[in-house]
Amino acid sequence: MASAPIIAIAVVAIGVLAWLIGAPLWRARRRAAVMAQPLPASALSAVDHNVPALSPLPPELRGRFESLMAAFIAEKEFIGCNGLVVTDEMRATIAAMACLLVLGRRGHYDALHSVLVYPTAFWVEDEVEDEAGVVTKRRRVLSGEAWESSRIILSWEDVLEAARYPGEGYNVALHEFAHYLDAEGLGLGAGERTVAEWADDLADEFEALLDAVDRGEFTFLDPYAAEDEAEFFAVATEDFFERAAELREAHPRLYSLLQEFYALDPASWVAGEIGMATA
Ligand SMILES: [Zn+2]
Repeated sequence: MASAPIIAIAVVAIGVLAWLIGAPLWRARRRAAVMAQPLPASALSAVDHNVPALSPLPPELRGRFESLMAAFIAEKEFIGCNGLVVTDEMRATIAAMACLLVLGRRGHYDALHSVLVYPTAFWVEDEVEDEAGVVTKRRRVLSGEAWESSRIILSWEDVLEAARYPGEGYNVALHEFAHYLDAEGLGLGAGERTVAEWADDLADEFEALLDAVDRGEFTFLDPYAAEDEAEFFAVATEDFFERAAELREAHPRLYSLLQEFYALDPASWVAGEIGMATA
């Protein structure tokens, strides 16, 4: 006959097992329910007003985009910092940027728990080690940061400014969410290639930028992209969504690499819009 402790252990083990199997199923059901609900009108009007870059989004992508936004807003915790009170407008605008990047990809920022929102650019203090191993403290002012899997930090002032005036190739929210997806490591959104093959080609594009910067040439990408490969990818992502046709013209191979990563072709959205306007 089984003794009481063994029964107790068995009950706990069954409970843990049920939770391990049940929790993801429950989450998936909950997400499906949220995604099936229409976005509130306030969220849609915030996107229309604040994110003009999304207006040429093709109708076949619109539905998925709004479902992703609904899930993002429901699942992520938005935390106001330095006294900021987070509004529905802020949630919708930030979620729009995050979800634009995953429209063609699988995954929904699963490990991301919270988005910290500062009213303006914020100070961070960290430590840097130089080549001799000397560690010094450094204080920097930032408009966004995405170095942890559980949270992203954004300055609302900078998010809004960039979102409302697209076309300049500067967008802090796209930049930070691009870092996040890069670090998340879920691979490419389209194609048969391995990430390693793709990353080799991206490294070639990065080297070409470094050479151009060394020669003192004008570069289409912001020279900050020459900082390292992670910054190169994040800056190129801003251009991919903000100045798609121009990026395709200036750096066709880089454009197609980003197309593989995001499984989207934003240059064709803009062309479609112009075609409609001139027809
Ligand atoms: Zn960066």
